Amino acid sequence: MSATCGRHAGVLAVDVCERCGRFVCGDCAVLRDERTWCTECAAVPHEASARATVSLLLGLGGFLCCGPLSIAAIAVGRVEERAISRHAAPAAGLRRARWGVRLGLIQLSVAGLSLAAVVLWRLLRAG
Ligand SMILES: [Zn+2]
Ligand SMILES: [Zn+2]
Repeated sequence: MSATCGRHAGVLAVDVCERCGRFVCGDCAVLRDERTWCTECAAVPHEASARATVSLLLGLGGFLCCGPLSIAAIAVGRVEERAISRHAAPAAGLRRARWGVRLGLIQLSVAGLSLAAVVLWRLLRAG
């Protein structure tokens, strides 16, 4: 195999980034937790971003006590999902963001259903 570095044309790659699969040369290889990463991946923070956590917490809050938080959870979670897909936010936050959105959607549909049930019940009683 004679692959060349993804960043330095003509320089022989010595390893592959474990995260993105890019070939890296000796200069670009970054050792992290005994794994090889490229400089770009090493530069991105690996913990979930605050926004991902906020989305999950809003989702939980909306689910457990105050429904309106669900809307914020969905909004924040969607923004974070988009940022992650653009590699603008750490992928570690994807699960949190997804759960924030998911919990928000569940809460909204539960709220919608109970509202519909109340309306229906009123209609039935009135008629
Ligand atoms: Zn990489
Ligand atoms: Zn290189």
